[in-house]
Amino acid sequence: LADKLQNALSKLKSKGKVTEQDLKEVMREVKLALLEADVNFKVVKDFIKTIKERAIGSEVMESLTPGQQIIKIVNEELTTLMGTSQSKLTFSSNPPTVYMLVGLQGVGKTTTAGKLGGYLKKNGKKPLLVAGDVYRPAAIKQLQVVGKQLDIPVFNMGDKVNPVNIAKAGVEHAIKHGNDIVILDTAGRLHIDENLMDELEGIKKEVRPQEIILVVDAMTGQDAVNVAENFNAKLGIDGIILTKLDGDTRGGAALSVRSVTQKPIKFAGMGEKLSDLEPFHPDRMASRILGMGDVLSLIEKAQANFDEKKAMELEKRIKSQEFSFEDFLDQLQQMKSMGPMNQILEMIPGVNSKQLKNLDIDDKELVHIEAIIQSMTPAERRNPSIINGSRRKRIAKGSGTSVQKINSLLKQFAQTKKMMKQFSDMEKNMKKGGKMK
Ligand code: GDP
Ligand code: MG
Repeated sequence: LADKLQNALSKLKSKGKVTEQDLKEVMREVKLALLEADVNFKVVKDFIKTIKERAIGSEVMESLTPGQQIIKIVNEELTTLMGTSQSKLTFSSNPPTVYMLVGLQGVGKTTTAGKLGGYLKKNGKKPLLVAGDVYRPAAIKQLQVVGKQLDIPVFNMGDKVNPVNIAKAGVEHAIKHGNDIVILDTAGRLHIDENLMDELEGIKKEVRPQEIILVVDAMTGQDAVNVAENFNAKLGIDGIILTKLDGDTRGGAALSVRSVTQKPIKFAGMGEKLSDLEPFHPDRMASRILGMGDVLSLIEKAQANFDEKKAMELEKRIKSQEFSFEDFLDQLQQMKSMGPMNQILEMIPGVNSKQLKNLDIDDKELVHIEAIIQSMTPAERRNPSIINGSRRKRIAKGSGTSVQKINSLLKQFAQTKKMMKQFSDMEKNMKKGGKMK
């Protein structure tokens, strides 16, 4: 999704003047990107309408940087769509505070129960986990393992007792043992069914949870929206935890669950580890969707320095797996006009400063690097693995450098290539995330 939105918006970014036709075309692409990412149709329609209305406003179109203004509006509206500000958990004035986790099977309820417990424990609370899933084999054991890892007590009554009674007994246990938080893990089904809903309703009536939290798997796209709508209609939910946002996710779920249910996303699961839970920040999610790392400013910088066609070629090369010394040379020459190398590489998502240190590209070195590459034969440029000892000596002589320099360049090149591959893999993941199954 991010990839598609960036593509659409980067077209605007460079424009000094945006016509209504430009806006229409870009909005069409934004709309398609959102729909393909499984964002709910109605949500998309409203979203596009709002942006158009705000963008057509005269002060935007007539400002000096209309393209950037529109990107700003898209960013703001994305943030609004996901809830404007971070929404915190609420606590009962009459402890224990009961949080009831509900959701389909496999979305991450049990894991999230543990994560949430760990999070609250770190914040000075004394949580109790209650094993209310009596259907899934080994579900109780799973929660016990999680509890043990976090050193949080787990209450269970085996799998022969009605979950409503387990919930009730769990709360009583918490009161007796001084636990101010009860996190109730419940059963899920592959699909929403009446029995599941009846059971959850029974628990709700019995223990009156402070919050019913719907756990939603961010990877399930449009399905997540239907599930959220259903749970909210039948059970009434108070908040959402979005899991698996670390993976190959469609951004769509995050965008639509909130706007369809009007209930806040409170946390995001960012991995399988029990520490991988983060408060959900709508503004950060919007920025993440709009641009991983800082692709937009990289494109902007490129466009400022050489013409658009060349920038696109560069982008293609960066993404390409077949990256040869020939491309490297070409790219070096183009990049020289953009500013210091490290600064440019820093803007590529997935590149961290540690990798940059390893790369250690000094701008003064660029002259030498150019000379070295120019001393290579075309075959060597395409396939550096053939550059053996005697070839290295020849290239060193030809470029007026040393074998040492050749060695270090070959090493740098291999590292760069690895980095480019990471970048392109990441891009591919984002693309996959944006396509319908
Ligand atoms: P439940 O059936 O809803 O209780 O789901 P589980 O808690 O058993 O989780 C199902 C699977 O999803 C497990 O393999 C978890 O490790 C995994 N999982 C849960 N949350 C996350 C998350 O935020 N990121 C990732 N990558 N995996 C998660
Ligand atoms: Mg479970």
